[in-house]
Amino acid sequence: MKRTELNELGEFGLINHLTKKFSLQNSSSLKGVGDDAAVIQYGTGKATVISTDMLVENVHFDLIYTPLKHLGYKAVVVNLSDIYAMNAIPRQILVSMSMSNKYSVEALDEIYEGMRLACEHYAVDLVGGDTTSSLKGMTLSLTAVGEQEPSKIVYRNGAKPGDLLCVSGNLGAAYVGLQLLEREKQVFLANPKMQPVFDGQDYLIGRLLKPEARKDIIEFFAEASLLPTSMIDISDGLSSEVLHICNQSKTGAIVEEMHVPVSELTYHKALDFNTDPIVCAMHGGEDYELLFTINAKDADKIKYNLDISIIGEIIPAADGIRLQTKAGRFHDLTAQGWKHY
Ligand code: ADP
Ligand code: MG
Repeated sequence: MKRTELNELGEFGLINHLTKKFSLQNSSSLKGVGDDAAVIQYGTGKATVISTDMLVENVHFDLIYTPLKHLGYKAVVVNLSDIYAMNAIPRQILVSMSMSNKYSVEALDEIYEGMRLACEHYAVDLVGGDTTSSLKGMTLSLTAVGEQEPSKIVYRNGAKPGDLLCVSGNLGAAYVGLQLLEREKQVFLANPKMQPVFDGQDYLIGRLLKPEARKDIIEFFAEASLLPTSMIDISDGLSSEVLHICNQSKTGAIVEEMHVPVSELTYHKALDFNTDPIVCAMHGGEDYELLFTINAKDADKIKYNLDISIIGEIIPAADGIRLQTKAGRFHDLTAQGWKHY
């Protein structure tokens, strides 16, 4: 029998391969695989939005530099981010966990204290989960449930040529934070007496270890009566997410490097690491900002929101999905997705 290696397909190819023979059989399944969250509606009124995400020790987090409380907080936040990316309001989470006996009750208490803080901050309720032992390490699997009127749910596939491409906040900081922590980890492993000094780098490290989901941006959309035409959260880097929006909307896009928001700290630290700051923004990941498109006639509604940048435009599919550099050259955007395997 032929053996195909997982990395021949990549993450998205694999998901597509495994799920393509499933078709939706229930009219209550408004949206299945392929967006930040699934959408379900029984009867009339609000629809339910549901998403699940897994964090695996030594793949998604390294306990050498991840405080347990932050791990719990982040596990919740990354799930809520997918609910906000549908323009929905998260209400509940379920937490499933497997752990080896290297974890003490006190260690698990710390993780759950982080989860409790996130539940409090985002006003969501922990309503269940599952607990089991594992031979090695820890896996956390969280499911988030939210709600929204079906007409206000924003999918990845609604972008149209002429729409403006927008992002919240700034990009690349978490990736640079990770590089900082990885560098200090190597120093520490070589000489455990060396304690890392992170003066002035709190912002970058914080963006990795304690991200926030953009609840405020969803609230802003409601206040401004603005309904984006498409939206996705930025977990794998801007490039990959622009490709998702374009592929699902059957459009192209042009992203202007000049307008991609990168904080000054990120910019300078990236250069210290001999990395191009735009590469951190395009391929870094773990930013948990929102990428969305709006009809050009709504441009005035975001004009005074300094935390939203217009980074480009949706164009016809035939014109490609491209980055225009500061020097005026064009590059095709490429997906990186994950390569954990
Ligand atoms: P995100 O990065 O927003 O969490 P993913 O890239 O993990 O989204 O997933 C993309 C889509 O594929 C989602 O709709 C998700 O529910 C679905 N998906 C991911 N893994 C599987 C799987 N093993 N089986 C079925 N659907 C999956
Ligand atoms: Mg997502």
